[in-house]
Amino acid sequence: MKIFNTLTRQKEEFVPIKEGEAKIYACGPTVYNFIHIGNARPICVFDTLRRYLEYRGYKVTFVQNFTDVDDKIIRKANEEGVDYTDITKKYIEEFWTDVKGLNFREADIHPKATENIEKIIEIVSGLIEKGYAYEADGDVYFTPSKFDGYGKLSHQPLEDLQAGARIMVGEVKREPMDFALWKAAKPGEPYWDSPWGKGRPGWHIECSAMVNRYLGETIDIHCGGQDLIFPHHENEIAQSECYTGKPFANYWMHNGFITVDKVKMAKSAGNFFTVRDVAEKFGYEPIRLLMISTQYRSPIDYSFDAIEQCKASLTRLYNC
Ligand SMILES: [Zn+2]
Repeated sequence: MKIFNTLTRQKEEFVPIKEGEAKIYACGPTVYNFIHIGNARPICVFDTLRRYLEYRGYKVTFVQNFTDVDDKIIRKANEEGVDYTDITKKYIEEFWTDVKGLNFREADIHPKATENIEKIIEIVSGLIEKGYAYEADGDVYFTPSKFDGYGKLSHQPLEDLQAGARIMVGEVKREPMDFALWKAAKPGEPYWDSPWGKGRPGWHIECSAMVNRYLGETIDIHCGGQDLIFPHHENEIAQSECYTGKPFANYWMHNGFITVDKVKMAKSAGNFFTVRDVAEKFGYEPIRLLMISTQYRSPIDYSFDAIEQCKASLTRLYNC
């Protein structure tokens, strides 16, 4: 079996770390809203990958996280005048309704960022000790320019990335590319005690911590949507490899974008559909068929016509 590896930009024979086993990590949703049609794609594609590997006899361990503390979640909680955990609880339940509709099989572990604060603090402390990260006013930042491999996943030289980066007014980081591992709590925000004061983790570090805790220092396959290659996955590699000194993931798989009527889907463009909206009109099964009937790295153009055709194909199949 060959896998297209984003890291090498080549199709490579799949050779697992341990014969007959496959350790897979997929980045999961930030739970502050219903999942949209673009989120349905990695859910269906990597569920299919997992099932196929199992069919081929592999013992698969599949981990997918929930990002359950984040700026967007806090903003929504403030807008609605509720606790941030009311938001995350609600949208984790709504996530399950949708993904079960899509026939996604529950992962072996669905860890939450807030359940992994101890591991996150351990890794951030280690990165400071090794000189890759520093504390500034209660925040902790990672410095990509100290990691030789930075840019290897997105195939961009560090100099090009640096050219586009800025330090915004009020930011205390040293270099424009530096990113937050830990953020000091602002008044009214959820926080945890840490060696750097009260605060919460940045987004990227949670995945490095969960991979390390649940799957180990090096895993077989790390996957997610193409939009995560930079900066999220690039930063995961930097943090993890600087911390452990070992390769983070041997194969990187990324699914292609979804456009809507040929235009990139975005809330601001008004062409944004939740899985729930579409399922209420057409059912969940045509959505899954649409997501897996195209090669997973190619773009999919979503339209009512496309989903109606999938529904009609399924009807023909069932009649037959
Ligand atoms: Zn991630």
